[in-house]
Amino acid sequence: QYMGLNELREKFLSFMESKGHLRLPSFPLIPKDDNSLLLINSGMAPMKKYFTGEITPPRSRVTTCQKCIRTPDIERVGITARHGTYFEMLGNFSFGDYFKHEATAWAWEFFTKELEMPVDKLYVSIYQDDDEAYDIWTKEVGVDPSHMVRMGKEDNFWEHGSGPCGPCSEIYFDRGDEKGCGKPDCHVGCECDRFVEVWNLVFSQFESDGKGNYTEMAKKNIDTGMGLERLACVMQGVDNLFLVDTVQNIMKHISQVVGVNYGEDDKKDISLRVITDHIRSTTFMIADGVMPSNEGRGYVLRRLLRRAARHGRLLGRTEPFLYQICDTVIKENASAYPELVEKKDYIIKLIQVEEENFAKTIDAGLAMLREIIENKDVDILTGEDAFKLNDTFGFPIDLTREILSERGIKVDVERFHELMLLQKQRSRKARKNAGADAWDSDSIDFNDLSATEFVGYTDYQCEAKVV
Ligand code: ATP
Ligand code: MG
Ligand code: MG
Ligand code: MG
Repeated sequence: QYMGLNELREKFLSFMESKGHLRLPSFPLIPKDDNSLLLINSGMAPMKKYFTGEITPPRSRVTTCQKCIRTPDIERVGITARHGTYFEMLGNFSFGDYFKHEATAWAWEFFTKELEMPVDKLYVSIYQDDDEAYDIWTKEVGVDPSHMVRMGKEDNFWEHGSGPCGPCSEIYFDRGDEKGCGKPDCHVGCECDRFVEVWNLVFSQFESDGKGNYTEMAKKNIDTGMGLERLACVMQGVDNLFLVDTVQNIMKHISQVVGVNYGEDDKKDISLRVITDHIRSTTFMIADGVMPSNEGRGYVLRRLLRRAARHGRLLGRTEPFLYQICDTVIKENASAYPELVEKKDYIIKLIQVEEENFAKTIDAGLAMLREIIENKDVDILTGEDAFKLNDTFGFPIDLTREILSERGIKVDVERFHELMLLQKQRSRKARKNAGADAWDSDSIDFNDLSATEFVGYTDYQCEAKVV
């Protein structure tokens, strides 16, 4: 039976409600009172204080579908079948309430009964020393021991410095040989796209002092995370995240606007997927109050938009077009995220302005890069050139690095940052001379100030600190 992304989200949340969880809406992408994180990257991130006990949660069982941004995955986007910089994470959380028995049983019930996933396609990983989890999965839940995999600390132990930590257990879906790398030793946890990690259950049971000493906590927590698009991908039997129903509609719109069909050329398909992802992440970031700038979250936003624009160029599109696609992103997400509809005109305008600005200089910048690649016999770009690309042509350093790394050319990033710093000092002095002392607080520019109006005074303070 076919299930759309919106249906799957609802199915999960109402299933967890039937198990006593309180359904909360997604938290915004900008973390609140948390300087350790630029953007929310998991369902548990905005609930840290419920876990530490600093704030009492509204109920000891909570379920959410959380908007997430993961920029560290940026280079895998469009390449693997399963990574986006934007995705939604479904989760159920226990704050000192239920533990392993219930978390595992419900996960299995949801997959095999509620969604009727074929049991022979499912694999479960556990932390190598977690015999308790092994026994529960095999004896209570009834998972076949041949579908159990023990993994090391790297993969299956959740830990962040000191504080609460613990082993985790993941459920993988086997998409079959033809989706994998084909190597004889392809296995659960392989980097390829055969075994897709769909759900991660974290059993937060220890308190770590950060020096290797672990004590069992009296009140244990559960934190789970499941990528909604990944779930939809395996349920709908499509090749990758970008072919999931609602996401595919976005990619189709891009195809139509740039005049390139999906599925005809591998390289062009990558660009189509990258643009689809980046327009999703940027639309949601702007809706939550991020403004393009050269620092912090604003830099992340700018880098994603400019990277998408460059992929548009690779598809032969020279006119701004991302702002048009935005419309479809909003339409496809309107029911779950009404804030997008509310801010529609604003989001579209902002993307259009940013796109038009970059469009003025992107060709000159690309020409400069082409000349460097073709005419000079270099294996490293000077900091001066990287600076010029940034300052004159608006190329974020990461974009320059990425384009050149495709040709095996490195960038003198250290020198680039030196030059950036010098420039900052120069402009600070200039501002001072012009009597603009009021604005002389480090790295805040006018962009950041307009962001302030949007996200409120407290977030502005926080942003200033992050930078
Ligand atoms: P992977 O190993 O595939 O990169 P992960 O172990 O980094 O995933 P977790 O941190 O465990 O992922 O996040 C919980 C769940 O969120 C994952 O099991 C997956 O379903 C989903 N997820 C994680 N990263 C992404 C991403 N970049 N795009 C889409 N879904 C993701
Ligand atoms: Mg990952
Ligand atoms: Mg993983
Ligand atoms: Mg994981």
